[in-house]
Amino acid sequence: MTAPVAPGPVIVYANPWTRLGRAHPVDGGCTARYRCDASRKEEDVIDDHAHPFNLAGGPLDPAALSLDIGTEPGAEDRRRSLGPGRLFQELLTVRLAEYLGCGPDEVPQARATASTEWESYVGGLFRTSGITGIVMDPAWPPGAAENLERYAELAGCPIHPILRLEPIVDRLIDEGAGVAEIVDAVGRAMDEAASRGWVGFKTILAYRTGLAVNPDVTRQEAETSLRSDVPVRRRGKACRDLVLREALANAADMGLPFQIHTGMGDSEIRLGESNPLLLEELLHSPAGAAARIVLIHGSYPWTDELAYLAAARPNVWADLSLCNIFSPLTTANRLLRLVDLAPTNRILLATDGFQEPELFWFPAVVLRESWEQVRSTLAAAGARASWLDEVEVAIFEGNARTLYGL
Ligand SMILES: [Zn+2]
Repeated sequence: MTAPVAPGPVIVYANPWTRLGRAHPVDGGCTARYRCDASRKEEDVIDDHAHPFNLAGGPLDPAALSLDIGTEPGAEDRRRSLGPGRLFQELLTVRLAEYLGCGPDEVPQARATASTEWESYVGGLFRTSGITGIVMDPAWPPGAAENLERYAELAGCPIHPILRLEPIVDRLIDEGAGVAEIVDAVGRAMDEAASRGWVGFKTILAYRTGLAVNPDVTRQEAETSLRSDVPVRRRGKACRDLVLREALANAADMGLPFQIHTGMGDSEIRLGESNPLLLEELLHSPAGAAARIVLIHGSYPWTDELAYLAAARPNVWADLSLCNIFSPLTTANRLLRLVDLAPTNRILLATDGFQEPELFWFPAVVLRESWEQVRSTLAAAGARASWLDEVEVAIFEGNARTLYGL
């Protein structure tokens, strides 16, 4: 990776990866983040979409960090054999070797040794990431919402939780509840979350009955949809559509933003049902136009569609996350396409980190590296350094602080 050069006074940025290897000891004693070699300060990162991570160290199994989450016989062997052939695993291994000061083949042992000092190791990774705040969906693993203080201690930064609706909806559908009971329960949970200071809400409807939400669905249609014996995850489309409509109206009343899963996810998803354009009817409805809506994961692979929605709809924000883990080298291109069309104060950068602290560190560094490429391209096109400085602060930190009230 060549170091980007901005116009005007020449500013050369260190290759973040190189700095990771050289500047940040494993003991976490270094508080430096990526710093340019001249006057410009690298901004803090508010990670606006992420999940809990392991509270204790252990072996790192990169093959298990996969979009393929099948549990059938042979699935683990498949992941183990395919893992080393993935670019994500190759880059994670090489970068981690640089960070740990060992050879790529020595990463498992070096990481095991480092993780005996878990608090220090995790703290070092987060400091190196530049992450100074995390908007976290703690719906998984079970009980994670009880550990928010511990996540904050380990990460060394505030954790701002958001409430995912599906655990409530799925449980009640499974128990045979009616529509009114489900809507009331979701409304109460949203009120409680807001009263506890949680900063927003989230739906993974794309993993259930898909994003083709009918905003005009009736209560009768919703009731009828529950009378089915398909698996709970695929049951009650009309009911789930109605719940989301009501929840968006609630969120608008509370003034809290609402994340909607779009685009890629693990192998449980039907990718075709996660296209953000399927939300257009909802976005044109009163509830869908009232709430501040964050479409997450860069809507991979529908980045241009996401950029359009953020540009054309008055209440849509574009979050770029997850694809910077599993498709790292297209991240700069996706970020460029977002910046090319969407207002930059509608763009949010995040990790979608989960399970391992390296899955916050790696995508955060990918974002930083991608931005330096994009910045260089925009500067070459004539964008002023002052404008680029403002955009950088906005997309890494300022937009999230404003949107979530941090
Ligand atoms: Zn996520």
